[in-house]
Amino acid sequence: MSSIANANGVPSEFIVQLEDVHKSFIMGKEAVPALRGVTLNVRRGEILCMMGPSGSGKTTLLNIIGGLDTPSRGHVIVDGENVVSLSEENLARLRLRKMGFVFQNFNLLSNFTALENVQVPMVLLGQRDPRRAKELLKLVGLGDRMTHYPSELSGGQQQRVAIARALANDPPLIIGDEMTGDLDTATSYEVMELIARLNREHGTTIVYVTHDPRMSKFAHRVIHMRDGRLAEEQFVDRATG
Ligand code: ADP
Ligand code: MG
Repeated sequence: MSSIANANGVPSEFIVQLEDVHKSFIMGKEAVPALRGVTLNVRRGEILCMMGPSGSGKTTLLNIIGGLDTPSRGHVIVDGENVVSLSEENLARLRLRKMGFVFQNFNLLSNFTALENVQVPMVLLGQRDPRRAKELLKLVGLGDRMTHYPSELSGGQQQRVAIARALANDPPLIIGDEMTGDLDTATSYEVMELIARLNREHGTTIVYVTHDPRMSKFAHRVIHMRDGRLAEEQFVDRATG
């Protein structure tokens, strides 16, 4: 695909470009195929939802986009950078600058306060900014919980801290794997509404996985995976307002 071949350093309307991405995990002497040729472009400012049965490759795909795992073959371009060919150090910097991650189990550091957790990606980039961290916690509605530890927060509040942390270095892309998987329905809606607002107000691109069809309604596009392939694509008719 010429768009991929020319992508190095050239701004593209796509923040993520995947071409023929394969991934197999070696288990003993066997190769377990997780992705079997995924080609996918994600537009800047898009909210893309991935669905599909357990084991269909959703997490593997997110991890490859996020540089947390490498493909067995295929091309992965994120914001014009060829993720597969980056050195470990440059890949770490790309992740810290360009992507924020939100996981099902929040992954907060339990002995750090909310405010300290939000600053972790800043510290890793050598750019601590407590004022920005406070603003982000206010943005996610936790202005009055900054010095609380994760154990002192509800699941929904912990996920808000994780979202604030994902935004720490102002990345253009948020990657979410089952973000609302451990939350009750009302809290899930609150978290997804926050995500949708970040998209509307800041243009942040969102790529997220969910099992819950109700949570897929926040996306512009829903892709269903099956057996390591993209099986079906729907454009969501969002009644906004
Ligand atoms: P999903 O997120 O859709 O449930 P995954 O991407 O986690 O699916 O897994 C896809 C396939 O890859 C499954 O068969 C799974 O068992 C396998 N797999 C995922 N991660 C690993 C791993 N680290 N080692 C071995 N097999 C794995
Ligand atoms: Mg998964």
